[in-house]
Amino acid sequence: MQNNKYSFPINQCPHCGGGTIKIRQHIHGYGEYLVDLENGEIESSSLHDYLYYKNTGKYALCADCGKRLFKVDDELNVIQ
Ligand SMILES: [Zn+2]
Repeated sequence: MQNNKYSFPINQCPHCGGGTIKIRQHIHGYGEYLVDLENGEIESSSLHDYLYYKNTGKYALCADCGKRLFKVDDELNVIQ
Protein backbone atom coordinates (compact mmCIF):
# COMPACT_ATOMS: atom_id res chain seq x y z
CA MET A 1 0.00 0.00 0.00
CA GLN A 2 2.79 2.41 -0.85
CA ASN A 3 1.17 3.89 -3.94
CA ASN A 4 -0.78 6.48 -2.03
CA LYS A 5 -2.51 9.07 -4.12
CA TYR A 6 -1.88 11.64 -1.42
CA SER A 7 1.23 12.50 0.46
CA PHE A 8 0.97 13.00 4.17
CA PRO A 9 3.64 14.22 6.57
CA ILE A 10 3.33 11.13 8.74
CA ASN A 11 2.48 7.50 8.16
CA GLN A 12 1.30 6.77 11.64
CA CYS A 13 -0.13 8.63 14.57
CA PRO A 14 2.68 9.92 16.80
CA HIS A 15 0.39 9.58 19.81
CA CYS A 16 -0.90 6.04 19.54
CA GLY A 17 0.71 4.59 16.40
CA GLY A 18 -2.59 4.26 14.57
CA GLY A 19 -2.41 4.11 10.80
CA THR A 20 -5.79 5.56 9.87
CA ILE A 21 -6.95 9.16 9.77
CA LYS A 22 -10.44 10.53 9.68
CA ILE A 23 -11.62 13.81 8.23
CA ARG A 24 -15.00 15.08 9.19
CA GLN A 25 -17.37 15.84 6.37
CA HIS A 26 -20.34 18.12 6.33
CA ILE A 27 -23.01 16.43 4.25
CA HIS A 28 -26.18 18.01 3.02
CA GLY A 29 -28.74 17.14 0.43
CA TYR A 30 -31.51 14.66 0.03
CA GLY A 31 -32.12 11.15 -1.16
CA GLU A 32 -34.83 9.42 -3.09
CA TYR A 33 -35.80 5.79 -3.26
CA LEU A 34 -38.34 4.10 -5.43
CA VAL A 35 -40.98 1.65 -4.31
CA ASP A 36 -42.68 -0.68 -6.76
CA LEU A 37 -46.42 -0.43 -6.22
CA GLU A 38 -47.03 -4.02 -7.25
CA ASN A 39 -44.50 -5.97 -5.22
CA GLY A 40 -43.32 -3.41 -2.69
CA GLU A 41 -39.69 -3.77 -3.76
CA ILE A 42 -37.51 -0.87 -2.80
CA GLU A 43 -34.95 0.48 -5.25
CA SER A 44 -32.47 2.61 -3.36
CA SER A 45 -29.51 2.80 -5.74
CA SER A 46 -29.95 6.56 -6.20
CA LEU A 47 -30.45 7.27 -2.52
CA HIS A 48 -27.16 9.16 -2.28
CA ASP A 49 -27.20 10.93 -5.63
CA TYR A 50 -28.07 14.33 -4.24
CA LEU A 51 -25.72 14.52 -1.34
CA TYR A 52 -23.00 17.13 -1.20
CA TYR A 53 -19.89 16.62 0.84
CA LYS A 54 -17.80 19.41 2.20
CA ASN A 55 -14.72 18.90 4.23
CA THR A 56 -15.36 21.07 7.24
CA GLY A 57 -13.01 19.37 9.62
CA LYS A 58 -9.84 20.91 8.16
CA TYR A 59 -7.92 18.64 10.47
CA ALA A 60 -6.98 15.09 9.86
CA LEU A 61 -7.72 13.30 13.10
CA CYS A 62 -6.35 10.01 14.24
CA ALA A 63 -9.14 7.48 13.76
CA ASP A 64 -7.98 5.63 16.84
CA CYS A 65 -7.23 8.25 19.48
CA GLY A 66 -8.93 11.27 17.89
CA LYS A 67 -5.99 13.65 18.22
CA ARG A 68 -5.42 16.33 15.58
CA LEU A 69 -2.56 15.40 13.31
CA PHE A 70 -2.34 17.96 10.50
CA LYS A 71 -4.47 20.35 8.48
CA VAL A 72 -5.89 19.50 5.08
CA ASP A 73 -7.93 21.29 2.46
CA ASP A 74 -10.95 19.96 0.58
CA GLU A 75 -8.78 17.90 -1.76
CA LEU A 76 -6.81 16.31 1.08
CA ASN A 77 -3.77 18.42 0.35
CA VAL A 78 -1.77 18.99 3.47
CA ILE A 79 -1.74 22.61 4.54
CA GLN A 80 1.61 23.57 5.98
ZN1 LIG B 1 -3.69 8.20 17.54
